[in-house]
Amino acid sequence: MKNIDNYDFIGKKVLVRVDFNVPLDENYHITDDTRIRAALPTIKKILEGGGSPILMSHLGRPKDAYEKKFSLKHVVPHLSALLGREVKFAADCIGPETEKMAGDLKSGEVMLLENLRFHAEEKKGDEDFAAQLAKLADVYVNDAFGTAHRAHASTTIVAKFFPEDKMFGYLIENELKNMDKVLHNPEHPFTAIMGGAKVSDKILIIENLLERVDNLVIGGGMVYTFVKARGGKIGNSLVEEDKLDLALRLLNIAKEKNVKVYLPVDNVIADDFSNDANTKVTPVDEIPDGWMGLDAGPDTIKTVREVIMNSKTILWNGPMGVFEMEKFAEGTKQVALAIADATAAGAFSLVGGGDSVAAVNKYNLKDKMGYVSTGGGAMMEYMEGKELPGIKAIRES
Ligand code: AMP
Repeated sequence: MKNIDNYDFIGKKVLVRVDFNVPLDENYHITDDTRIRAALPTIKKILEGGGSPILMSHLGRPKDAYEKKFSLKHVVPHLSALLGREVKFAADCIGPETEKMAGDLKSGEVMLLENLRFHAEEKKGDEDFAAQLAKLADVYVNDAFGTAHRAHASTTIVAKFFPEDKMFGYLIENELKNMDKVLHNPEHPFTAIMGGAKVSDKILIIENLLERVDNLVIGGGMVYTFVKARGGKIGNSLVEEDKLDLALRLLNIAKEKNVKVYLPVDNVIADDFSNDANTKVTPVDEIPDGWMGLDAGPDTIKTVREVIMNSKTILWNGPMGVFEMEKFAEGTKQVALAIADATAAGAFSLVGGGDSVAAVNKYNLKDKMGYVSTGGGAMMEYMEGKELPGIKAIRES
């Protein structure tokens, strides 16, 4: 199969779907360029190989037409600085002028197209729109992992116009390699740590993981649906009343599959959802009315740390408590530190999902994790065992 390492880019126009959906301040300055930097290895490889990258992306959520605050033009100066060369900008992602610019592009020159989502056809996955994008180039490279679970024109449909000349960029290749290692080739013991607000968001991923893991650690707000289902007293904690049966069913499946489930034994409770609340530590199933569980307690943290330190593969998704508030951040912080220590001792760890990635960054532990995924929704769907349209479009012949 052709890939970015073995493809001959000399003289080729290369349509690259990147994720330049970066945050901008009110003066249109980029406040976090992580996503742009993540695409640089792919762009540089094409340039060094003698090709001409034609970059396309979305930015924000425009209402199907031009809006200045969502223009990708704001990205041009910084991208030029990072690449050390001029980046040409096409004011529309399709149309005769853009085709002319693309046609005139020389080997080693880079061009960026205006926001794809200024056209409603992008999100609709419109075939004619995809055909117009395809006209611009000889090769298609998808390196936008964050949108790989969407069947949009630029992420999926466009691939059919390049049956022999389509491939992943380095970012997607890397994401797939790391996720596949955890899903299909994990060293045991394999521990999954699932946190976050709601069990309903994590059902499919938990079901898929129960086929693969040795230990499942449950944390965060979803804990209380499990605790209530087992007959515990949860006070005013977050609960999904309609998921009590499901919680019991998941625990039963775990038992059948010999997966050891770690629910918290103790927790930090508060009399208000606020950093100024009164707090105390109680058993997780003895929460008085008027109080709510907002973080893991010390005994739980100790046990979870031991489980993590005894693991060879660790997957973490979702915080252990309301870590945005300092008073309820300890559980999440200690899990992040334990994963860092286990990783230093030789385990492989994969962290994914917006909030756990935010926690890892908050505690400056990104470099101490095995791999931190860049795609929230896409990562979740892949771990649920789904085939992502953007991945399938490249893999199928
Ligand atoms: P998710 O997006 O599903 O991963 O959930 C993340 C959110 O869950 C974060 O904003 C946390 O503040 C929240 N969360 C974690 N633990 C609790 C809890 N015990 N009660 C309410 N919300 C929680």
